[in-house]
Amino acid sequence: MAAPLYDELGQRLTDCCAAYSTYCEVGTFQKPGVIDQVLVCKGCYHPVALGQGDGTEFKPGVDPDAYYKETFRRDRWLEMISHSTRKENHPCKA
Ligand SMILES: [Zn+2]
Repeated sequence: MAAPLYDELGQRLTDCCAAYSTYCEVGTFQKPGVIDQVLVCKGCYHPVALGQGDGTEFKPGVDPDAYYKETFRRDRWLEMISHSTRKENHPCKA
């Protein structure tokens, strides 16, 4: 198994593209009318496992509070939000 990938501050990234991930709402054929939230990679939009790029897993020893303070200080937080709301190439153009 490949070692997990992290951004420069220690948040885990997706194994496939070393990107952040985002939740995508998808309908299921099994249960019509039911909307599921699926975590997808922002690089390739394939589903990824929880913890990959979703801001819940960090490099051992990295404190999530310190991570978010640092990203906020760098305005990277705003950049991440703008990425997550960008809809072009997104499979769920809701
Ligand atoms: Zn990917």
